[in-house]
Amino acid sequence: MPTALEVLAAEVSTCTRCSLCEGRTQAVFGMGDPDADLMFVGEAPGQEEDRQGLPFVGRSGKLLDKLMLEEMGLTRDRVWIGNTLRCRPPANRDPLPEEIAACRPFLDQQIELIAPKVIVTLGRFASQVVLDTTEGITRLRGRTYPHPSGAVIIPTFHPAAALRGGGETMAHMRADLVRAKLVLAAA
Ligand code: URA
Repeated sequence: MPTALEVLAAEVSTCTRCSLCEGRTQAVFGMGDPDADLMFVGEAPGQEEDRQGLPFVGRSGKLLDKLMLEEMGLTRDRVWIGNTLRCRPPANRDPLPEEIAACRPFLDQQIELIAPKVIVTLGRFASQVVLDTTEGITRLRGRTYPHPSGAVIIPTFHPAAALRGGGETMAHMRADLVRAKLVLAAA
């Protein structure tokens, strides 16, 4: 018998709820431990993710792996890594409101089925969607928020912003991951 998460993954793989399905190579469901205590939510698949069908496998993903290991002692098989959108927007443009709305139920179901204790949202889009706010990431990060599921939400910068922004952004991101580790240890 397939698990509920496997059933959802099969549904996502043939999804036509928005027009992004027309340009995708494949949908990127997410990866990791289906029982993970920690979930990362990014923005949307990029070119390499669309090609491989896996989240965060490009430069941003390499940085995420490195920071996760250095600040939390975790590897990606011990967490869940997913995105706000499951299909790549053309030329990596920003997700549109209708695409976010169409894909949101999949994210909500993943959160329900995996039931993480901590959700780290990576960047403005994921943070605004998961927190249901229009506030910018610089104001949102630095503290924790409750999710209706009971999880603790910890917003941080997107690794692409840390790659672009250099020292200070990277330091904030590291601090946010340490915060996530402490919340996980106490949960
Ligand atoms: N950026 C994201 O937000 N998600 C990915 O999966 C890859 C890059």
